[in-house]
Amino acid sequence: MSNVSEIFGSMVFNDEVMKQRLPKDVYKSIQNTIKNGKHLDLTAANVVANAMKDWAIEKGATHYTHWFQPMTGITAEKHDSFISPVGDSAVIMEFSGKELVRGEPDASSFPSGGLRATFEARGYTAWDPTSYAFIKDSTLYIPTAFCSYGGEALDKKTPLLRSMEVLGKEALKILKLFGNEDVTSVKTTVGPEQEYFLVDKEMFDKRPDLIYTGRTLFGAKAPKGQELDDHYFGSIKPRVQAYMKDLNEELWKLGVFAKTEHNEVAPAQHELAPIFTTTNLATDHNQLTMEVMQKVAKKHGLVCLLHEKPFAGVNGSGKHNNWSLCTNTGVNLLEPGETPYENAQFLLFLSAVIKAVDDYQDLLRLSVASAGNDHRLGANEAPPAVVSMFLGDELTAVLEAIEKDEKYSAKEKEQMKIGVHILPKFPKDSTDRNRTSPFAFTGNKFEFRMLGSSASIAGPNTVLNTAVAQVLREFYDKLADAKDFTSTLHELVKDTIKQHKRILFNGNGYDESWIKEAEKRGLMNLKSTPDAIPHLLDEKNVKLFTENKVYSETELKSRYEILLENYSKVINIEALTMVDMAKKMIIPAVSKYTKDLAKTVQLKTSLGMDAGYEKEVATKLSGLNTAAYEKAKALEDEIMKVKGIADPEENAKAYEKYVISAMNELRVVVDEMETMTAKEYWPMPTYGDLLFGVR
Ligand code: ADP
Ligand code: MG
Repeated sequence: MSNVSEIFGSMVFNDEVMKQRLPKDVYKSIQNTIKNGKHLDLTAANVVANAMKDWAIEKGATHYTHWFQPMTGITAEKHDSFISPVGDSAVIMEFSGKELVRGEPDASSFPSGGLRATFEARGYTAWDPTSYAFIKDSTLYIPTAFCSYGGEALDKKTPLLRSMEVLGKEALKILKLFGNEDVTSVKTTVGPEQEYFLVDKEMFDKRPDLIYTGRTLFGAKAPKGQELDDHYFGSIKPRVQAYMKDLNEELWKLGVFAKTEHNEVAPAQHELAPIFTTTNLATDHNQLTMEVMQKVAKKHGLVCLLHEKPFAGVNGSGKHNNWSLCTNTGVNLLEPGETPYENAQFLLFLSAVIKAVDDYQDLLRLSVASAGNDHRLGANEAPPAVVSMFLGDELTAVLEAIEKDEKYSAKEKEQMKIGVHILPKFPKDSTDRNRTSPFAFTGNKFEFRMLGSSASIAGPNTVLNTAVAQVLREFYDKLADAKDFTSTLHELVKDTIKQHKRILFNGNGYDESWIKEAEKRGLMNLKSTPDAIPHLLDEKNVKLFTENKVYSETELKSRYEILLENYSKVINIEALTMVDMAKKMIIPAVSKYTKDLAKTVQLKTSLGMDAGYEKEVATKLSGLNTAAYEKAKALEDEIMKVKGIADPEENAKAYEKYVISAMNELRVVVDEMETMTAKEYWPMPTYGDLLFGVR
C-alpha cells in the first residue's frame, strides 16, 4: 500500500488544491463562500471551474457530473463529458462556471410527491461549495442540492443545509450571551458508524430476494447463529481483511476518514466508523461510503448488504449517528468544561438537547422510519421504537441535584449552583455502555442509535438540528434580557429538567417493562412506518419546520407522500418477489423432491423393502406444499386488493396490516419445508451458506 498520507484526499479538490491552483483573490472569494455562505460571482466561478477541470483532467477524468441526493435515498448523477467541439473536426476540453454552479438533469422521474407537475419536467441542481468536488471512476463529481424551479427542495441535502444554518445561528446567539466574542460560527458534527453484511456473490446471485429486495424473504435458521458471540470483534477472515484494506484505500482517496473497522455481532456482519466531520460532509461521505462499499465488494467476489434486516433471527444493521456542536474555534459544545462558566454553558446546551428530544420525539422516530428499519426497531437487538435518552448515572445525579436544589454528592458542602460550581469529571467509559438506549450521551456527544443502515443520515440530522435550534431560540429569548443572568440560567435549566425528565431513562431499553413504563410517562411508541410518518404533518411539527425555514408546508406534504408511497412500494416488491419465488422455485422444487420420494416408495415397496421414511416425508411435504401454494395465492389476492387504495396513508396501513401478514404466513410454511427438503433439491443457498459462506 502506498503511504496513507499520500493517498488521503488525492482525488479531492480540497482546500490545499484550491490554495495551490487558484489566484489569491479567487481563493479568498471561494473561502468566503464556503465559510460564510457568501455568493460567488460568475467570473470567480469560471476561474474555479477551469482550475477544477484542469486538475480533474490531469487525474484522468473525462467527464463531470452534478451529484445529488434525491428522495430515492440513493445518490443520482448524470455524466457529461468536458468535450466541446471546435469547428468540424476538433474538440477542446471545457467546463464553465455556469456548468459548475448549475445543472439541469432531466429529472422528471425522481419522486417529488406532486411538487413538480410533470409538464414542468425538470428540477435543477445547484453547486454546494461547502462539500468538496472529487474524482471517482474517471468523473469529476460536483456535490449539489436539487430543487424545483419554484425553489422547493427535491432532495435530502437542501433541508439539511438549511437546518445547519439555523442551528448555527441560534447557537452563536447563545454563545454571545456567554461572552464568547471570538466565535464566529457553529457547525454540527457527525460521525456515522456504518454496519453491513458481506455475502459471497455467487450465492447472492442465486437468491432473487436478495437481488430484488436486499433481504432474505425466506430462510430457515442455520444450526448456528450469533449465540456464541464469537464473531463480535473476532479475528477478521483474510478475504474480508483484503476487502477492508481495499475499501479503506478507496475511501481515503476520496477524503473519507474511514478509521475503525471490526466484526459485528451477527455472523458475516461488520462495521466501519469514520472520524467525525461537519454534518453535510459527513452526509456526503456516508453516501459515498455506501457506494464504495458495494463497488469494492464486487471486486472481491462479494456483495455488501446494506439492508436493515437481511436475515431473520440474527441482528440487523444500523447506523449510529454521533452528533455534536463545534465552534470555528474548535470548542465542542457538548464537552463538559473545567470551569463553572464552561459548565454552565455545557448544561444549557445539554438541557436544550433534552428538551428538543422530548418535544420532537415523534419527528426523531419518523426520521428513521422505513420498511427495512421496521424489522429492527423494537426487536431485541436495536433500540426500541420509543425514543428516550441515556445520560449515565453521574450526569443524571447532577441534573437531579439541580432540579431539587440539593447537593449532588455527599462530599459537596453546598447545593449545585450553575455558573458557580464545577461539575464532577465524568469518566468517559462509564457514560456510554448502555447500548440499548436510542439516544445516548457518550461523554462529549450524543449518539442517536435508531438510524437504519441503508438510509441517508440527512433526514435524522435535519430533525435534530432544527429541534435543537428551536429550543435554543426559546432559551435565548428567556436569557437575553435577564437582569441576573446566572440565576435566570439556573432556573431555566432547572425548569427544563423538571418538565422533560420523562425522556431520561438509564435502564435497559430492551426490557418489556420499559415499554409499559414509557407509556405511563406519556412517551410515544410509534411502532411502524405507517404509524410514524403521518406525524410529519402534526401542527406543532409543521410549525417547527416552517418557522425555522427548513421545510415549507408544501415540501412537508410532498415528503409525507413520498415516504408513505416508498413504504408501500417496498412491501409490494417484497410481496411480489415472494410469490414469484414460491411459485417458480420453491413449490416446484419441493414437488420434484416429493415425486422422487414417492417413486422410491413405489420401488421399495415393490421390492418388499421398508419405505417408512420416504413415505412420511413425502406425505408431510406434499401437504405443506399445497399449503404453500394456497398461501402464495392468498398473498397475491392481498396485493391486488390493497394496490388500488389511492390515499397514501391508508395504502401504507393496508400493506402493513394485510400484505405483511400474508407474507409472514407464506414464509412460515416455506421455512418449514426447507428444514425437511434434501439440500440438493432446495433451489437456493441457505442461511448457513450465506452467513458462513465467506471464508
Ligand atoms: P464507539 O464506542 O461507539 O465505537 P467512538 O468513541 O469510537 O465510539 O466514536 C464513535 C464515533 O463518534 C466516531 O465516528 C467518532 O468520530 C465520532 N465522534 C467522536 N467525537 C465526535 C463529535 N464531537 N461529534 C461527532 N461525532 C464524534
Ligand atoms: Mg457507537
